[in-house]
Amino acid sequence: MYRIIDGKTVSQGVKDSVRDELTALKTEMGLTAGLAVIIVGDDPASKVYVRNKKLACEYCGIESFEYALPERTTQDELLELINKLNSDPKVDGILCQLPLPEHIDEKVVINNISPAKDVDAFHPENVGQIMIGEYKYLPCTPAGVMELIASTGTEISGKECVVVGRSNIVGKPMAMLLLHKSGTVTICHSKTKDLAEHCRRADILVAAVGVPNLIKGDMIKEGAVVIDVGMNRLDNGKLCGDVEFETAKEKASYITPVPGGVGPMTIAMLMKNTLTAAKSKLKQ
Ligand code: NDP
Repeated sequence: MYRIIDGKTVSQGVKDSVRDELTALKTEMGLTAGLAVIIVGDDPASKVYVRNKKLACEYCGIESFEYALPERTTQDELLELINKLNSDPKVDGILCQLPLPEHIDEKVVINNISPAKDVDAFHPENVGQIMIGEYKYLPCTPAGVMELIASTGTEISGKECVVVGRSNIVGKPMAMLLLHKSGTVTICHSKTKDLAEHCRRADILVAAVGVPNLIKGDMIKEGAVVIDVGMNRLDNGKLCGDVEFETAKEKASYITPVPGGVGPMTIAMLMKNTLTAAKSKLKQ
């Protein structure tokens, strides 16, 4: 008998704790928190994400500064804005919504965000700190997955953990976080020879691929915790995960739905990182 891991409820808990802590720090110490969100161009999905981030900021008491730049914005213009935000004391966190238009090099942009304000944790300095387990920020999606696993009460230590996908944003940091919790981690990708065999060994299975319904029920171990990061828009407009929910739920002990699983966690963890960034002012 499976149980749904409800990302809306877990993410609400994270946002509530950010809001409560920030409210208390505002009252006691006059702390403020600000997040700058930059969006370049007109990608409709990006616009939705940016709007949701703004709403989450409002809920948590974080001031949001939105920079909606036209598609024709040059890389130099974008870097100029980032440099300005890097030294703006009202801005604690900076997020540049990806993907960027093709004429802008994402790596250059990420490298120019101050690591102290890099609340997405994409800057190589922050990535390196995650590697050695001494991080200030965790990347929002993998950190959200860890919260979801924790909400099931599942002990990660010693478990077979399989992560499908090896992107810098999700798969690789996800594997590292599971490893930090002493999981025995396998990372699968498009060149993996027998994906089903690897998946069938997993006590904890995280799919972050971008291929609708790739992971079927017969690839899942009885009683596994199944986390579906995939967010794939089908031709009929519906959102669908990387896991075939209907067959997978028959095997899983816990499973995330799409939508309503990992998605809401990503923004909640961004709020948490922004609070962390703001709190670092207290130490100065
Ligand atoms: P990427 O496209 O950057 O990475 C996809 C990974 O999947 C790659 O490592 C690729 O392997 C691997 N892959 C592709 N096809 C297969 C296959 N048939 N078998 C095994 N592995 C395969 O995607 P992201 O990591 O950015 O995102 C993954 C999914 O998660 C997407 O659906 C995305 O929309 C979603 N997502 C959801 C978020 C949320 O908040 N819920 C946040 C971020 C992403 P290789 O490296 O060999 O090419």
